[in-house]
Amino acid sequence: MTTAYPNLLQPLDLGVTILRNRVLMGSMHVGLEDDRHDLGKLAAFYAERAEGGVGLIVTGGFGINRTGWLLPLAGKMTSAAEVRRHEPVTRAAHDGGARIALQLLHAGRYSYHPLAVSASWGKSPISPFPARAMTGREIRGTIDDYARSASLAREAGYDGVEVMGSEGYLINQFLAPRTNRRTDRWGGSPENRRRLATEVVAAVRDAMGPDGILIYRLSMLDLVRGGQSWEEVVALAEEVEQAGATIINTGIGWHEARIPTIVTSVPRGAFSWVTAKLRPHVGVPVVASNRINMPAVAEEILARGDADLVSMARPFLADADWVRKAEAGAPEDINTCIACNQACLDHVFQRTRATCLVNPRAGHETELVIEPAGTGRRVAVVGAGPAGLSAAITAADRGHDVVLFEAGDDIGGQFRLAQRIPGKEEFAETLRYYRRQVERTGVDLRLDTPVTAEELIAEGFDEVVVATGVRPRIPDIPGIDRPEVVRYDQVVSGEVEVGDHVAVIGAGGIGFDVCDLLTHPGIPGEPPDLDEWMAEWGVTDPDRARGGVADPQPVASVRTVHLLQRRTTRHGTDLGKTTGWVHRATLRARGVTMLGGVRYDRIDDEGLHVSLGKDHDEQRVLPVDHVVICAGQESVSGLHEALRAAGVASHLIGGAEQAREVDAKRAIEQGVRVAAAL
Ligand code: NAP
Ligand code: SF4
Repeated sequence: MTTAYPNLLQPLDLGVTILRNRVLMGSMHVGLEDDRHDLGKLAAFYAERAEGGVGLIVTGGFGINRTGWLLPLAGKMTSAAEVRRHEPVTRAAHDGGARIALQLLHAGRYSYHPLAVSASWGKSPISPFPARAMTGREIRGTIDDYARSASLAREAGYDGVEVMGSEGYLINQFLAPRTNRRTDRWGGSPENRRRLATEVVAAVRDAMGPDGILIYRLSMLDLVRGGQSWEEVVALAEEVEQAGATIINTGIGWHEARIPTIVTSVPRGAFSWVTAKLRPHVGVPVVASNRINMPAVAEEILARGDADLVSMARPFLADADWVRKAEAGAPEDINTCIACNQACLDHVFQRTRATCLVNPRAGHETELVIEPAGTGRRVAVVGAGPAGLSAAITAADRGHDVVLFEAGDDIGGQFRLAQRIPGKEEFAETLRYYRRQVERTGVDLRLDTPVTAEELIAEGFDEVVVATGVRPRIPDIPGIDRPEVVRYDQVVSGEVEVGDHVAVIGAGGIGFDVCDLLTHPGIPGEPPDLDEWMAEWGVTDPDRARGGVADPQPVASVRTVHLLQRRTTRHGTDLGKTTGWVHRATLRARGVTMLGGVRYDRIDDEGLHVSLGKDHDEQRVLPVDHVVICAGQESVSGLHEALRAAGVASHLIGGAEQAREVDAKRAIEQGVRVAAAL
């Protein structure tokens, strides 16, 4: 095969069926699974990914019974009515040439409702509902429920099922001494703790017959204290294969683990070594997972022999045509998942539909339709940050004649800064993608071109999209004009080198990012080193410690940093649900002092003077070399107002429209939506 990705694009004969390539679209709840009226949208979502070339799709988790529901009224596969509702989903995948498996999930003590059950009585740190210990009878009933759901899944047209045995859900809870304190035949010895997993697999195989694909998601690294030993993991894999599994998929980390496993600061392909460690022990294909987002990463994992397939979930939210672009040898056209979690997992936690920061169409395939424009029009887009870029390429793709004006010497806006933050190097991929799309769509990009309303009017554009972004807010503090007071953009861009002692004013997303940059010993823009990252977070070979957990060895900070805010709430409360804790833990480990309820009094030769306490009666001087301003943003929207006054059709988007809580998710979505309607 003449391709840069011969291993990735090679078919795989499973015996029961042939997969067209080594790409498994991993299970991910997108919020279209639970309401039966949404299953048509779910079908449209999978149809695009199947047409985009995915070999095998695994759906989000569906319940096998009510006690195992993750949330009340979650999607399940327990009745003939549900079988009928799923038929369009399986048809859509098959019409696109993919195979599709239904994930069977019992949440155990992660169930967010009062009926929760588990191996033993207990409450997980991430749910307020204590779980009751299951009786032997309930366990046998649960095994039957798995089998019944598998059989119904086959009736609905699924090629098979994935048994969710990892991430700390029910089966994983039985496997680990952390949560299984039983003394009957389902607990105590490692063999007894494995019994539920192997009996579920055997019952599911029996229910599906010999020709259904049976994927078992195996927790290879629990990343919690009291997790499984490596010997137990290997024994489990051998027994699961024996019991009838067709494929073993990799699970990494329980949901309650305090080690990040998928956020953007986790190095690419960080866990494929665990899959490689297991592979020689089994005869069935194994799947590597976590932080695989580009074809070259996937190919390297397969070529090295770490795994037989690769699993990716979020990358298919970011780009439905990921595989087709790899096949065409055009990875530069891939809209890369930057592992930010902002529009996918954070949405799921907020119980809203998942989509994607870099691709707002994800999950909205039937609603956000980008169609060719009836008549091509002359469109000016002003500002080449995320909002302007998404508007320009969407408008050009629809057939409009687009000029993109940028006052600076390059595209990217705030993303140019973001890519320099440690662990946010992936943002460079989004800029690469936009740069390529500007070229491909023929957008006329004019850099170093600040443009006025008069100039735009003189060029006779039919429509103008104003995406002129934001400028940093400068708070009114005595001494703010002193030379040691600098803006975040000057620090992040490298324009200013700050001293060893720094105070950061403002603890929003940018304040956190600046602290990370200032305390990190690495070079901005350089990807993290895997060994250093593992040591920092305490990830080790599971041969050395149960669950692969060691004591973390925090990176020593290269500076003394104070992060200040006026609010008295916990620092970082506005950061993403699934990423905020990682940022907080990182800064804490590096010794950043977080001060809240601060009043900024003045800046002078001694440093930054602040008042603390409920009544601001405690005065302190922070003797710092530099004060970095991260106090939020103000919109730059003068151009829009001037155009409107002159009667020009002007659309204001992104930070220029609303600086408060400006973020790339809203900016990119606004860009796409405004261009879809031009
Ligand atoms: P932000 O989140 O609004 O935070 C601004 C900070 O400045 C707040 O901590 C605020 O806290 C403080 N502040 C506001 N007015 C001030 C004043 N007059 N004087 C002193 N302090 C003041 O803004 P940002 O950090 O610039 O971030 C912009 C957007 O980018 C955010 O919406 C965020 O979603 C996004 N972003 C997110 C991340 C992430 O999630 N990791 C990273 C970067 C950017 P007090 O009012 O309490 O002092
Ligand atoms: Fe990836 Fe972020 Fe999109 Fe989620 S929102 S799929 S993490 S780019």
